[in-house]
Amino acid sequence: MKIIITGGAGFLGRHLCEHYLKENHQVIALDNLYTGNLENIAAFTQHPNFTFIEHDITHPINLEADAILNFACPASPVHYQKDPIYTTKTSILGALSMLDLAKKNNALILQASTSEVYGDPEQHPQPESYKGCVNPIGIRACYDEGKRCAESLFFDYNRMYNLSIKVIRIFNTYGPYMDPNDGRVVSNFIVQALQNKPLTMYGDGLQTRSFCYVDDLISGITRMLKTPQNIMGPINLGNPHEFTLLELAHLVITLTNSRSEICFAPRPQDDPRQRKPVIEQAKKILNWDPEISLEQGLIKTIHYFDHLLTAEKNRSHHNNLIL
Ligand code: UDP
Repeated sequence: MKIIITGGAGFLGRHLCEHYLKENHQVIALDNLYTGNLENIAAFTQHPNFTFIEHDITHPINLEADAILNFACPASPVHYQKDPIYTTKTSILGALSMLDLAKKNNALILQASTSEVYGDPEQHPQPESYKGCVNPIGIRACYDEGKRCAESLFFDYNRMYNLSIKVIRIFNTYGPYMDPNDGRVVSNFIVQALQNKPLTMYGDGLQTRSFCYVDDLISGITRMLKTPQNIMGPINLGNPHEFTLLELAHLVITLTNSRSEICFAPRPQDDPRQRKPVIEQAKKILNWDPEISLEQGLIKTIHYFDHLLTAEKNRSHHNNLIL
């Protein structure tokens, strides 16, 4: 298959490129490098089945494809709130241009939606049937409403043009190739702990998240892509083990053997108090269940960031010597 992966130089996009190259597909990664990073895909650039195109999906593009995986969008609150209008454009205009491209090619298209469509949920845990509690004028709305509108566009393209669509709702995911400056809690805590700096806790740390290791998530996504045409979703993909942020912080400090303490800062506006997926649909339809525990996943991720930070330190030391 010829597979287009938008956001191909981002965290999840990069893992998807790797997966489909290993399966001998032809992969075209589209990314405007707004949050994506060429270093993430440096290992693939010489691969005969890999093409990278620097492209902003808010503009149309004409390519041939059998399948499109739409992962292009800044996904960390820090990054998506930097230019909220652009985030909305990426979600909605990006979805429209990719849906048009899928229609032209009669290709299958998968949308990376998000647990953010549930907002600050009043129902806990969150099944796919829950309609959500999103503040439409808050600082998270650019992302939440953008992704909700994209879901609506996907289902309208299916109803109007019989386009083959798949929608997954991704819950908090972490692992190697996250950007150390991503701003999300797992990467922030690990990087801070490795440097023995205080861990920045926003709020009282009693809010919860359920963290999925990236390999588990990629296995869910690739299973979803293979389902028959009548399976469209939306399907939750995430790890249902729920932790408070305080539990996460203590685990990271222990696993990094760090001297860091925890410092508290105000909780951001509309920050969800709790989040945990119901994954019965994914279990039943995809025969999928995450296998990697938070501790196992954190150990792998800590190892990745440790190498990255050491390499950076050596590089700057080397540059100082040259200067
Ligand atoms: N958070 C934190 N410290 C950080 C980064 C995030 O306490 O350095 C909190 C954030 O306020 C939220 C949770 O961690 O309650 C998860 O935030 P993240 O940005 O990772 O993802 P979200 O689930 O909000 O999209």
